[in-house]
Amino acid sequence: MPPVSLGLPSVDRRPDAAAGPAPADRPDSPFLIDSYGRRATDLRVSLTDRCNLRCTYCMPADGLDWLPTPDVLTDDELIRLIRIATDSLGVDEVRFTGGEPLLRKGIVDIIGAVAGLPHRPRMSLTTNGLGLARKAKALAAAGLDRVNISLDTLRRDRYAELTRRDRIDDVFGALTAATAAGLTPVKINTVLMRDVNDDEAPELVAFALQHGYQVRFIEQMPLDAGHGWDRGTMVTAEEIQAALAGRFRLSPHREPRAGAPAELFDVRSGGGDLLGTVGIIASVSRPFCGDCDRTRLTADGQLRTCLFSRTETDLRVLLRGGSTDDEIANVWRTAMWGKLPGHGINDPSFLQPDRPMSAIGG
Ligand code: SAM
Ligand code: SF4
Repeated sequence: MPPVSLGLPSVDRRPDAAAGPAPADRPDSPFLIDSYGRRATDLRVSLTDRCNLRCTYCMPADGLDWLPTPDVLTDDELIRLIRIATDSLGVDEVRFTGGEPLLRKGIVDIIGAVAGLPHRPRMSLTTNGLGLARKAKALAAAGLDRVNISLDTLRRDRYAELTRRDRIDDVFGALTAATAAGLTPVKINTVLMRDVNDDEAPELVAFALQHGYQVRFIEQMPLDAGHGWDRGTMVTAEEIQAALAGRFRLSPHREPRAGAPAELFDVRSGGGDLLGTVGIIASVSRPFCGDCDRTRLTADGQLRTCLFSRTETDLRVLLRGGSTDDEIANVWRTAMWGKLPGHGINDPSFLQPDRPMSAIGG
């Protein structure tokens, strides 16, 4: 089967629109505010669109047409954009993701450089864990604060089927190494799929509690390259809560979740002892767009205001065309001012974005 194309030519890129004068209705604020009263302080940076796994809900078995190398931002370009975001736009949190971010050769140096910026953001990494055991110490020493490691099953055969690679031991090694390196709290990202791994929710929570990790169950979203997402088979937050209730007592965690997407629950044993917390990210069934504090950068330098955006703003062309930091910051503000109120997954007119999750940066 030929690789699935990203279909990028059909993406509406808007360097010119965003590069014009600020819209008259945008208030004079240095921050990334939008017209619905939100402010973006959390920057998601995709370091690469490539990956060494082929999770069935994310990528086809043969992979995708990867971005051509010249299109990918260099380390210096990336660091410059993060400096602009933290110096001028009020970003205080950066999450590195992908594709698989550990495949980016310069990752340790990028993190070291960001740690040395005048307004150092908190830094975390979302990874499938392959190769983390070798790099965890260096990443922590460079300034990485914590990691999310993706693990959808505890069973070797299932993991191999689900990711199309027999690498579950690497993930267990990654969890141990991340804890040893102090990249804590270590969070586990899990996507449950009906009749695939949805029977494992309580086991995954028990595993996490035993080792001091925190599981976050993520509802499957329509962001797969094959456009095979089906609302009818999606495992909902409500179903996850019901499955956990068979083994644990859940109650809402006392701290409000602020901009964080996960609804946090305290997990108690049948006898009432507090065992830890679990997170549920109900992006589809209980959208949290009203509290969104995200702004996103793809590996090829396209700014997205939302995972589900159908438009992008080309910052790479500005970086390479000699724009000043102030000009780039202003384009970023204008793009964010135009952020839509929600992702629209539940609207009848919803259209899945052309880029899949792996090419946006999940
Ligand atoms: N490769 C890294 C990893 O797997 O952690 C980082 C990128 S991956 C796109 C980030 C997260 O998105 C992973 O936890 C993955 O399980 C999740 N993910 C991928 N496709 C998804 C989908 N269609 N719906 C919900 N979550 C998804
Ligand atoms: Fe790769 Fe992460 Fe997508 Fe799995 S979810 S294929 S690890 S990018």
